[in-house]
Amino acid sequence: MTTVDRWYGAYLFDLDGTIYLGDEVLPTVVETLARIRERKLPVRFLSNNPTKSPAEYLDKLARFGVDAEQSEIINTLVTTTGWLRTHRPDAVVFPIGEQPLIDALAAAGIAMSDDPALIDVVLASYDRSFDYRKLQIAFDALWFHKRAVLMSTNPDRYCPFPGGRAEPDAAAIVAAIEASTGVVCERTFGKPSAQMLEVIGAGLGVRLSEAVMVGDRLATDIAMARRVGMDAALVLTGDFGVGDLDGVPDAERPTWVVETLADLLP
Ligand SMILES: [Mg+2]
Repeated sequence: MTTVDRWYGAYLFDLDGTIYLGDEVLPTVVETLARIRERKLPVRFLSNNPTKSPAEYLDKLARFGVDAEQSEIINTLVTTTGWLRTHRPDAVVFPIGEQPLIDALAAAGIAMSDDPALIDVVLASYDRSFDYRKLQIAFDALWFHKRAVLMSTNPDRYCPFPGGRAEPDAAAIVAAIEASTGVVCERTFGKPSAQMLEVIGAGLGVRLSEAVMVGDRLATDIAMARRVGMDAALVLTGDFGVGDLDGVPDAERPTWVVETLADLLP
């Protein structure tokens, strides 16, 4: 374990396991963020969860005493709508997701339909009201009409909760659609997909190569950064221990391993 001996031009933070764990802010987070704010460096908070709006994350951070702007919260609602607006602004989307996703697509001016003959993009997400009707619409759009493509908000298999419980996440819905149609999901907008960084990088004000990604998971936070050649710091406050790095190839290792966020700054 180390203390980082340099300042970066911008700081990207994973949220759960890095800033807070469940309903508690993690040690040294508030003072570390205050030191970064003193230098007026860009900060972003990242989450793969598409079932909460950035405003809900802002409220949660405020309860922990963490000041942030809504534009600094980048979850997969932001990356998905940001990518669609830039690359497929005229696409008709069929969202298989919860109300915050539907609201975010509407706010971004993206057309939506459940008519398989009109759908350009089937967008699979974390949807606790997924049912056979939605699967049939996706199937008809992809397999019968053969005009749509399949994308997902985030690649997670399950979403963990404090106490060890978890819920099936977007990957389960992608798998049901892929299994029935034979169509492969072509794009996802959450970690470790570099698509998330493309959207963040566009508004950051400094190059990603001058920024550091800070997170508690090797396979998502660190992998995403390494994919684009960005520096990454693994913090051991979440579900990863330093012993878990044994045998990990150099290309997949974080630049830094820190015990808490205090060690992230010189
Ligand atoms: Mg995490």
